[in-house]
Amino acid sequence: MIDEKFDAIVVGAGMAGNAAALTMAQRGMKVLQLERGEYSGSKNVQGAILYADMLEKLIPDFRDDAPLERHLVEQRFWMMDDRSHVGLHYRSEDFNEQSPNRYTIIRAQFDKWFSKKVQEAGAVVLCETTVVELVKDSFGKVIGVRTDRSGGLIRADVVVIAEGVTGLLGTRAGLREIPKPENTALAVKEMHFMPRETIESRFNLKGDEGMVIEAAGTISRGMTGMGFIYSNKECVSIGMGCLVSDFQRTGETPYGLLDAFKRHPSVAPLIEGSEVKEYSAHLIPEGGFKAIPQLYGDGWVVVGDAAQLNNAIHREGSNLAMTSGRIAGEAIFQLRSRREEMTEQNLSLYKEMLDKSFVIKDLKKYKDMPALLHTQSQNFFLTYPQLVSKAMQSFVRVDGTPKVEKEKKTIRSFVNARSWLGLFADGFRLARAWR
Ligand SMILES: Cc1cc2nc3c(=O)[nH]c(=O)nc-3n(C[C@H](O)[C@H](O)[C@H](O)COP(=O)(O)OP(=O)(O)OC[C@H]3O[C@@H](n4cnc5c(N)ncnc54)[C@H](O)[C@@H]3O)c2cc1C
Repeated sequence: MIDEKFDAIVVGAGMAGNAAALTMAQRGMKVLQLERGEYSGSKNVQGAILYADMLEKLIPDFRDDAPLERHLVEQRFWMMDDRSHVGLHYRSEDFNEQSPNRYTIIRAQFDKWFSKKVQEAGAVVLCETTVVELVKDSFGKVIGVRTDRSGGLIRADVVVIAEGVTGLLGTRAGLREIPKPENTALAVKEMHFMPRETIESRFNLKGDEGMVIEAAGTISRGMTGMGFIYSNKECVSIGMGCLVSDFQRTGETPYGLLDAFKRHPSVAPLIEGSEVKEYSAHLIPEGGFKAIPQLYGDGWVVVGDAAQLNNAIHREGSNLAMTSGRIAGEAIFQLRSRREEMTEQNLSLYKEMLDKSFVIKDLKKYKDMPALLHTQSQNFFLTYPQLVSKAMQSFVRVDGTPKVEKEKKTIRSFVNARSWLGLFADGFRLARAWR
């Protein structure tokens, strides 16, 4: 197929792969990027919030021509029971700034644009090409790849594995384990189209302002998971995701949860009269720090979702993918400039650099959180949201009951549900996981 040898092959053209390929191509390296989809982004799913800072580090002037939807001026967090939600809303005029901090995007369009930048930087990008094997020499060093196109081995000094969460290539090559169901969420998402003015009046927006809602509570029926509603220019993305192990345990279905979320009285009016034009499903790596596999070896590094680099607590993934891709590209370039071999020992530079970045620091900070939310999911996603909703209703409903009685009743309802010891234990566990 391709006879020449490349400085680097990048497998996958998502956020991580594009960042790695761009970083190396910008520095004059000979890069081949292989993507199984018809085009970059055709297979990729995201909510999607784009974090500008991480893209700016790759393409400082991205705002000039990137396909951006709305810049975010408002973030809502909802704790839901079946008929209500308790909300924390943060809106600030500060976000109507010259260079906004977060945007909504549509990945199919965004990834196509990102891939164009990679090609303009000089990388060879081949789509509709699935890498079927990482080829190793007799010492176990990765020396190239084989694809589903006719032809043999394509050689490179190093292979950047940016194949996303399922990571079949890496697991088949024995570089890491198959992601565990308790470390992986399955999310479904729909795009609801409606006129721009309808979105702006329903969500209190003007111009290109946007808002996002992150929702948790009884909508996940006691499973570890969340819902989201993100505003784009002419459509609203709405989705729901829970851990795969919880779906296995309960027999609930992702589309069943999403349907119920859409029917919730707080949600239904927001999407009323819209037309659904797209439906997608995708996995999300949610095991956090403890699920991160070996990140480098002889002739290879792994980046983005394939490396489990996803911060489920803060709902960040694409920025960790872009940053790990960029750092991998920079580390490889440094080694190449010093004429050093792409050995396991030398490629540990990637991990060293990643450890110093927010990617590993953030994941390390919340290392106990995924397990806590998983083992205590009934409390955090069912019991407490119901109790908080009841407490709020009691607080705002004026019915002649003396306040002191209401307060006693509220405290009793918490203690009956969890006991003092249970409440204390949950608070302690949460504080410890958050510290
Ligand atoms: C519903 C949902 C909502 C999300 N919302 C957000 C959000 O709002 N903000 C955020 O920051 N993150 C969000 N994420 C997470 C984010 O989408 C991911 O973290 C990010 O896409 C990871 O990028 P990646 O490049 O590692 O993987 P991907 O984007 O999955 O890219 C992997 C690429 O590799 C290709 N590939 C795979 N195997 C092969 C092979 N063998 N040969 C060739 N090509 C191959 C795939 O086709 C794909 O293009 C969300 C995820 C989901 C599912």
